[in-house]
Amino acid sequence: MSLIEPVLLLPADESGRTKMTEYIEKKYGIRPALTVARSILSRPIEGYIVGKGKRYILVTATHHALESITTNIAFMLIDLLLSKENVGSINGVDCKLLLSKFAFIIIPCVNPDGVELRLHGIADTPLKERQMRMSRGDLSTWQANSRGVDLNHNYDFGFVTYKTVEREHGIVPGPTLYSGESPESEPETHGVANLVRILSPVAVVSLHTQGEEIFFGPNDEKSTRIADRLSSLTGYSLSVPKGTSAFGGLCDYTASLGIPSFTLELGRGRNPLPESNAPRIFSRVGNAVAILPTLL
Ligand SMILES: [Zn+2]
Repeated sequence: MSLIEPVLLLPADESGRTKMTEYIEKKYGIRPALTVARSILSRPIEGYIVGKGKRYILVTATHHALESITTNIAFMLIDLLLSKENVGSINGVDCKLLLSKFAFIIIPCVNPDGVELRLHGIADTPLKERQMRMSRGDLSTWQANSRGVDLNHNYDFGFVTYKTVEREHGIVPGPTLYSGESPESEPETHGVANLVRILSPVAVVSLHTQGEEIFFGPNDEKSTRIADRLSSLTGYSLSVPKGTSAFGGLCDYTASLGIPSFTLELGRGRNPLPESNAPRIFSRVGNAVAILPTLL
């Protein structure tokens, strides 16, 4: 079991370092191996690589600003995998062997600007006026990035159809659900999608909250079988995205490329879930995600 105490993700210092990047560096001497992109406000979106294999499992967290507890979960996964990399097993799986064949690419926070905005309010940036208009002074439901685009609706899947949904529901740039001007218009999503195109991961996991559910795709035998196993390992139920949830998400996009893709809606309650829930959530899902390669 990971020993990372839940700590606030931000503020990061100017180079994007957080308490958790420092924790991992101190314990293992490891820094993020790649910068996937820089956010609109120039914060680095970093990824860790754990494992030496050339078959990649991509794990992302905190597309949504209210769901930053998933960043804690991502770091707990990094900690678990690194602690077992050379010795030990998880659910009977030999980790050294596992991580010689596969590598996890883990991006703990896709939306650092959104998290910073939600936690610390509107700062004096070129977006200040716009953010004040979009939020109407209330950041308590802010999920989007710094310019009001919901990053998990900005990937290239169902974009044109979703624009009609937006019109019907009066969805505009703001706290949630707005998909942006075009697919991957935001550097955050463009960076992640580029990484997918470069690495061709064999599976994608996107961490969200809440509901103790797993959404998956494509709807084929392989992904269904893996989802069934994840469901039995975690106790989470399997669900099909409905309504606004069925468009523009990372896993919608990667599933459309044929990659087995799993959105995990972690925990139960009301967003934002308290960070103190992280160890309990991780005890349900951590091992399952860690041994996902063996389910492929
Ligand atoms: Zn979410």
